[in-house]
Amino acid sequence: MGMLFLICLEGSIYSCKHCYTHLGLADDIISKSFHCRHGKAYLFNKVVNITVGEKEERMMMTGMHTVVDIFCVGCGSIVGWKYEAAQEKAQKYKEGKFILESDIEFQFATWELSIICNLHGMIRTP
Ligand SMILES: [Zn+2]
Repeated sequence: MGMLFLICLEGSIYSCKHCYTHLGLADDIISKSFHCRHGKAYLFNKVVNITVGEKEERMMMTGMHTVVDIFCVGCGSIVGWKYEAAQEKAQKYKEGKFILESDIEFQFATWELSIICNLHGMIRTP
């Protein structure tokens, strides 16, 4: 396994529930009214520290979508998916956006964050 470069976020953070790798910021949530197999899911403008899987067509309640599963780079767990394309016009706003299945939110002070990020070797981004 190569060197892992993780991005460290600041503020109110959503993390991988298995390894606590930072995935998204509460500020980047577009909608909290999504659902997945395991319950609640949130639509994010952007997420970090993920890798993507193969493109596939998936039939959802809101029509056919082209999606890729997204995986935590820290532990390889599946954490949600990304919308590559939506067929329905009303669903186009989701294209390029991410769903995180994890609903774990942490709120850290900046000094706490810098300790956690140093421990994990995460890189602070301005
Ligand atoms: Zn993880």
